[in-house]
Amino acid sequence: MGLTDLPDRADVVVVGGGIMGASTAYFLTEATDRDVLVLEKDEIASGSTGDSSAIIRHHYGPSEIYARTAAWSHDFYRAFEERTGEAIAYAPNPMVRFATEGTPSGDYVEAGADVLRALDLPVSRHEGDELDAAYPMLELDDIDFAVSDDDSAYSDGTDVAGGFARAAQNQGATVVTGVAVTDVLVEDEAIAGVETDEGTVEADEVVLAAGPWTPRLAATVGLDVPIEPMREQVVILDPPADFSEESLPDLPSGGPPGGDWYLRPDFGEGVLVATHHTGGETDPDTYDRTPDQSTLLDLTEKIGAFAPGLAEAGVQGQYCGVYSTTPDHDFVIDQAGPDGCYLACGFSGHGFKHAPAVGRLVTDLVTGAESSLVDVEFFALDRFEDDPTGHGVPDDKI
Ligand SMILES: Cc1cc2nc3c(=O)[nH]c(=O)nc-3n(C[C@H](O)[C@H](O)[C@H](O)COP(=O)(O)OP(=O)(O)OC[C@H]3O[C@@H](n4cnc5c(N)ncnc54)[C@H](O)[C@@H]3O)c2cc1C
Repeated sequence: MGLTDLPDRADVVVVGGGIMGASTAYFLTEATDRDVLVLEKDEIASGSTGDSSAIIRHHYGPSEIYARTAAWSHDFYRAFEERTGEAIAYAPNPMVRFATEGTPSGDYVEAGADVLRALDLPVSRHEGDELDAAYPMLELDDIDFAVSDDDSAYSDGTDVAGGFARAAQNQGATVVTGVAVTDVLVEDEAIAGVETDEGTVEADEVVLAAGPWTPRLAATVGLDVPIEPMREQVVILDPPADFSEESLPDLPSGGPPGGDWYLRPDFGEGVLVATHHTGGETDPDTYDRTPDQSTLLDLTEKIGAFAPGLAEAGVQGQYCGVYSTTPDHDFVIDQAGPDGCYLACGFSGHGFKHAPAVGRLVTDLVTGAESSLVDVEFFALDRFEDDPTGHGVPDDKI
């Protein structure tokens, strides 16, 4: 994918060929006749997107806004090939929240079930003896109840970002890889273009969708975007044969209460296990892509306690990826700074499932259409002006 020649002008430059930039280019070219140019410094999906566990769920505790954007996006994913002409990997798999009564996380799990029911999204609840019958492969002695987000699924970040980018190209977008934006150009308080390591591109509008690199670019137009890049660690297990036969087909996505790690079945008979919001701040250019030995040992112990049949699992693969974490774990989708400057960033480890909605919301911002999906004001950058924690540091790791 990509062109060797860099155009010297576009109506809209989208910086970043991750899932958010690619989705934005798709929706912009579907809804408008603007000339759209995607600039990606490396390859499509080479950032957080390529490392994503790509779980598509709708349970977000009491937050209806994310349940809505997830559900809308999931409908799009189900129809992805029909809508875009591009096939994607997709496997239905319930996402289950395990909880204990009378705890803040138990309340969060119950609240999420209520939201799902209110939105007519399939949800089931198991408690007591039913738990062992529902999840015989898991050790749930300390668990009081489980809420299953029944219609969940998982996919693949590289597949989806590539699909969006090719479909955007088919709709007229230009996608250039291997070209880095070094500066955002402003004239008379309005976007004038971008400077790249291959020359200047004039443009009227710029969408900064550069994942954990976005704050650096936003700073060139005077915007302070509070994103901490955090390193998360992933291991793909090779389950023993009896687990693969008896348990893998019914294994849900999820993890014990606390939310600092989760597992899900993987394409190709593996089991993916990943840390969640446990990593320290990192540099997206130089972070160590190999998980720490101490983390692997800790995860092995936790996995053995939660899914005993996986205690003796081998390892198929391992890597690390980067979350773009905001103080409140909420996204930044906004017009901010000079006229024509848009932000789509801060997806905090849970952006994949919302990517179609994000592309649509950014398109609505660019065209000035009032979005009927959700109130995009929730994602505005200025929430950090009065309070540096924005909506507040979340109790649960969403
Ligand atoms: C380990 C892991 C597991 C995850 N699991 C899930 C999950 O199960 N479900 C879920 O919903 N979400 C999940 N996420 C989160 C989700 O993957 C991200 O929110 C999403 O991929 C963010 O996409 P993005 O396009 O914003 O960023 P990125 O994918 O990082 O894309 C940004 C792109 O911009 C490019 N770029 C940067 N700077 C420049 C520049 N100056 N010029 C040109 N190009 C530039 C980069 O090379 C990169 O390709 C996970 C993330 C990780 C890391």
